[in-house]
Amino acid sequence: MKPLGPIPPGFTAIDGELAIAGRKVSALVEEAGDTPLFVYSAALIRARVAQLRSALPRRVALHYAVKANPYRPVLELMAGLVDGFDIASGGELAMVRAAGIDPARVSFAGPGKRDAELEAAIAAGVTLNLESESEADRALGIAERLGVKPRLAIRVNPDFDLKGSGMKMGGGAKPFGIDAERVPALARRIIAAGADWRGFHIFAGSQALDAAAIADTQAQTLDLAARLAEQTGAALPHCNLGGGLGIPYFPGDVPVDLAAVGAMLGERLEQLPAVLEETAFCIELGRYLVGESGVYLCRIVDRKLSHGELYLITDGGLHHQLAASGNFGTVVRRNYPVAIASRFGAEVEEEANVVGCLCTPLDRLADKGGFPRAEVGDLVAVFCAGAYGASASPAAFLGQGPAREMLV
Ligand SMILES: *Cc1c(COP(=O)(O)O)cnc(C)c1O
Repeated sequence: MKPLGPIPPGFTAIDGELAIAGRKVSALVEEAGDTPLFVYSAALIRARVAQLRSALPRRVALHYAVKANPYRPVLELMAGLVDGFDIASGGELAMVRAAGIDPARVSFAGPGKRDAELEAAIAAGVTLNLESESEADRALGIAERLGVKPRLAIRVNPDFDLKGSGMKMGGGAKPFGIDAERVPALARRIIAAGADWRGFHIFAGSQALDAAAIADTQAQTLDLAARLAEQTGAALPHCNLGGGLGIPYFPGDVPVDLAAVGAMLGERLEQLPAVLEETAFCIELGRYLVGESGVYLCRIVDRKLSHGELYLITDGGLHHQLAASGNFGTVVRRNYPVAIASRFGAEVEEEANVVGCLCTPLDRLADKGGFPRAEVGDLVAVFCAGAYGASASPAAFLGQGPAREMLV
């Protein structure tokens, strides 16, 4: 048997069945109409935001990275919980606007912004995190044509990365941001052009669980911001410190020590150099805010044996949960937290492979996991499905189509 990832806190059983927000999953599936279904818990999202608010220094604003989960009810919930939104495309701009979010709270990072996306963002008053000198030129040209003062920040490609990060986004050659040594010259040029100078965006990595590594990166980020602001020779209005807080997906993963991260960041903010004294700071988080709040539910359609191995075949799969199948940036496949939702908490009776319904051996939700005996019709839950599930999986593959989603 291979271990399964840790089930996040906050889930209970009612009559031997997984319950989310106090409701049995069978009732949620009935309300949604069918499986596969993503269920996101508003209570768990609220609780996570509250934990962050109490652990982080007051001076640090909280932004939501929309790409983690752009489901409209989630955006609407977030609108009342976080301070800002980070988008990565014109499509996400349309999503946040449709959710009624004020574009003045939005910043837009991402390489390869097209002119039409720059124009929509500038016209709406979104802050652009510029990813190159040529993007800066295009943005300034578009703003001049529109007759508006663009809100411009520079995304810095830092010369360090977040240690232990699941996804490295800084250090060395990267398609993201502008190499640190070229930033001051561009910042001066943007200010001279009369733009509304918004400062720096420094994102060094993602999915880290080690508080010391996160704190170390934040300290380096503050040092870099101070150095670049000095070299620019202008006050720094805003600095996005990136994010990087991860969630436990796999066996042995432990949650980030949030209190330690907050305390270490607080200490650093007490000792800021003069050039950063007036700077407003934020961190931007995706999965840490919503990842553990979501559960992906699918139903067992077949139970079969092959060469002595048991297969529980579901109506879900990697087309909705690419990351759980091990095909979204993982090197060695390990099991996500997976359970038989309709027999939640029951004793382990057998070893099974839980697979999806796609004709590919990649479509595996749990490899040789230990489960109570499950039959056709039982519901399977894949946890940690609140981020990079529905929005980051190839739903059109094999004509399957998207899963249902609900916020409860
Ligand atoms: C993806 C991304 C995030 C969110 O990352 P999480 O690991 O979900 O917190 C934040 N900022 C930028 C620039 C990103 O590309």
